[in-house]
Amino acid sequence: MSAEQGGRGLHPDTLAVGHGYDPSEAWGAAKPPIVLTSTFVYPSAQAAKDFHRAFFDGATEAEHGGPIPDGFIYSRLGHPNLDMVERRVAALDRAEDTACFNSGMSAVSTVALAFLRPGDSVVYSRPIYSGTDNLLHKVMVDFGVHVEGVIDACDAAQIRAAAEAALAKGPVALFMLESPANPTAAIVDIALVRRIADEIGVRQGRRPLISVDNTFLGPLLQNPAEHGADLTITSLTKYCGGHSDLLAGSVSGSKDLIGQLKSLRMILGNHMEPFTAWLMLRSLESLAVRTERACANALTVATFLRDHPKVASLTYVGFLPEGSPARAVYDRQCAGAGSTFSFAPHGGEAEAFRFLDQLKLLKNAVSLGGSETLICHPATTTHYSIPRERREASGITDATLRLSIGLEHPDDLIAEMARGLDAG
Ligand SMILES: *Cc1c(COP(=O)(O)O)cnc(C)c1O
Repeated sequence: MSAEQGGRGLHPDTLAVGHGYDPSEAWGAAKPPIVLTSTFVYPSAQAAKDFHRAFFDGATEAEHGGPIPDGFIYSRLGHPNLDMVERRVAALDRAEDTACFNSGMSAVSTVALAFLRPGDSVVYSRPIYSGTDNLLHKVMVDFGVHVEGVIDACDAAQIRAAAEAALAKGPVALFMLESPANPTAAIVDIALVRRIADEIGVRQGRRPLISVDNTFLGPLLQNPAEHGADLTITSLTKYCGGHSDLLAGSVSGSKDLIGQLKSLRMILGNHMEPFTAWLMLRSLESLAVRTERACANALTVATFLRDHPKVASLTYVGFLPEGSPARAVYDRQCAGAGSTFSFAPHGGEAEAFRFLDQLKLLKNAVSLGGSETLICHPATTTHYSIPRERREASGITDATLRLSIGLEHPDDLIAEMARGLDAG
């Protein structure tokens, strides 16, 4: 049963609860077992040969003269919990297939290694997750990949200018996008990038692939594929995991592209392991209710901050000005504003630090998308390794604070923030 066939017609909330696991596969257990084994016993020598043929050659039914027996071989190649979670994430991303990894960066890095070759160019939206920024600027450049950034990816002229600069250095193999961006909430017009990628494809004889890091909104609030993306990347560590207790990542797309990622994953050995996959299955069951509550809380907190005299700026995407290009893209592309955004108190680092250090309920930590509210100072933490010039050009100042609003009662969050702002 493919993810698509299995998921047809059901709402995402429903798919998130049970899709990908059939109790009849495991003694009728209502919930999936965790299959902790590194290797699998073949039923016969011929079965072993068939399994390998199915896995490595993708032997077709026609070639085989009937259904190809396939089974698990060794856990680095695939294991039952990985299959279950991949079916479920594929259904939520409305994709043919999904590959799951042991972290979000593992997913991003495998996309870069699979689809970029020496001499190629990559165009990325700025700012991009700092790990991805480091991957492109510190690792991929040493492999001979040219890297070009674009700040306003709702603006056709800016995207074209970046694409031309990239094309002058080498064929554009990949647009690596992230929307909304971290921590500025900059929006990328995915459909516009797709049109420009199509134009470049005609000129260079190969359409660049488009990947979108969907971590900030997750599968229920944005579906990049619907707007022309080939690959949807998610750090499952964040909203999908939802409890700040695991690291995981996924990439969804066509069977062909995901097949290439799975082949590379087998070589790199960066698959998601059974216990994490099991935790993910459990976490996804509550994704819809967690998303709804976190979004509602975030709107309440963002409204409080917007109206507070000690707050200099706020990047909540729900408040993008009506009539702006970013607003139009947001309305078309997103089903909600998520719960991660930034604000800046008046002043600089000293004012931001003073505010942070009096907090107790809000925890000063990096990461986002957990049940608890987290806050951090990007310039000195998440974006510490990004050169000041690139950081400031993409809107991260010395006063910027990033918030990931969790599931607490919003009045408690607001009361604590009000005390801090009023004292500052
Ligand atoms: C956290 C994050 C990643 C990396 O995920 P890890 O699971 O920490 O490796 C990638 N992209 C975005 C937008 C993120 O927030």
